[in-house]
Amino acid sequence: MTAQVTMKSADILILGAGPAGLTAGLYASRAGKKTIVLAGRSASRLDIGYQIENYPGFPSIDSRELLAKFRAHAEQFGAEIYPGDAIDLNLEGDLKFVATKDAVLEAKAVIIASGKSLPKERMIPGEEEFLGSGVSYCATCDGPLYRGQPVAAVGNSAEAAQEVLHLADMAGRVHWVQGDSGAAKVPEADLAVLAAKGVHFLPRTKVKAILGGKRVEKVELFGGAGEETIDVKGCFIFREIPAGPLLARAGLALDHKQCLAVDSRLRTNLPGVFAAGDATCGGMQVVSAAGEGCLAALQALHYLRTKE
Ligand SMILES: Cc1cc2nc3c(=O)[nH]c(=O)nc-3n(C[C@H](O)[C@H](O)[C@H](O)COP(=O)(O)OP(=O)(O)OC[C@H]3O[C@@H](n4cnc5c(N)ncnc54)[C@H](O)[C@@H]3O)c2cc1C
Repeated sequence: MTAQVTMKSADILILGAGPAGLTAGLYASRAGKKTIVLAGRSASRLDIGYQIENYPGFPSIDSRELLAKFRAHAEQFGAEIYPGDAIDLNLEGDLKFVATKDAVLEAKAVIIASGKSLPKERMIPGEEEFLGSGVSYCATCDGPLYRGQPVAAVGNSAEAAQEVLHLADMAGRVHWVQGDSGAAKVPEADLAVLAAKGVHFLPRTKVKAILGGKRVEKVELFGGAGEETIDVKGCFIFREIPAGPLLARAGLALDHKQCLAVDSRLRTNLPGVFAAGDATCGGMQVVSAAGEGCLAALQALHYLRTKE
């Protein structure tokens, strides 16, 4: 069965629906540009839920309430908030393309407001090296490439279980590495289906390293019953997608902290691509993220005018 892919186009595409992305969305849509704000699965830092006492005009406000206000305000001017994680970026041409697992979005300008990237220490050794050469974050996109071949799957959320179900239908033997807590959040019914499909459950086990030559060949495991190495052709990772490697692979310049390198006008090294908020490691505050979102949108609008 071929998965349905949605095609969408915009003048300005914004990656991330936190204060930076939603402020950029508000400015871009209010200026009359077709604007899409891609909202990834990993929450905005505001979604954690804390009391903010330093956002001007609001002496004390719950962060989720403020996020809802940002969102409603952007939508009021016509910004479309579209769900999905960017998993592939092609940003070098005049037209930019961003793929999620079920959509391809095209735009004339892009603003990256994807927040602070998962730090390198929380990535699996080998994850970045083999991204695109055996490491994948999407079973529906890349599962068919591993038909009949052994793969490892990493993650323990209910969503990870759904991805493992896809893999079990496409790949060969699936070794499901479930991390410290096992598949605590997975419904019993899904677990039963996975067991019936011959998935190899590895509870309380983690991946120590992803190994190989040009492509993934093995994963080294620890925990559970000790250490072992298993031969696999692919390693699917189902948790927050670290933006850093994705952005670097797209040709964007990053600094040593995985922050996007930008100039004073929030331009990245790629024409027509701007960045705002924690993604640039600017102020690391809501107000600075919103401020950068505004500036990035104004710069993207200016860029579009020079192209007309
Ligand atoms: C516990 C805590 C307390 C804090 N307290 C304060 C405070 O009191 N005052 C203050 O000003 N700041 C505070 N901050 C910091 C503040 O929350 C952040 O600086 C701010 O949220 C950054 O906004 P942002 O839009 O850059 O990124 P975020 O709010 O992190 O939003 C990032 C967005 O990008 C999306 N995304 C990520 N990857 C992808 C992808 N691959 N594809 C598509 N979308 C993607 C995410 O889903 C999310 O929507 C706090 C942060 C924390 C964690």
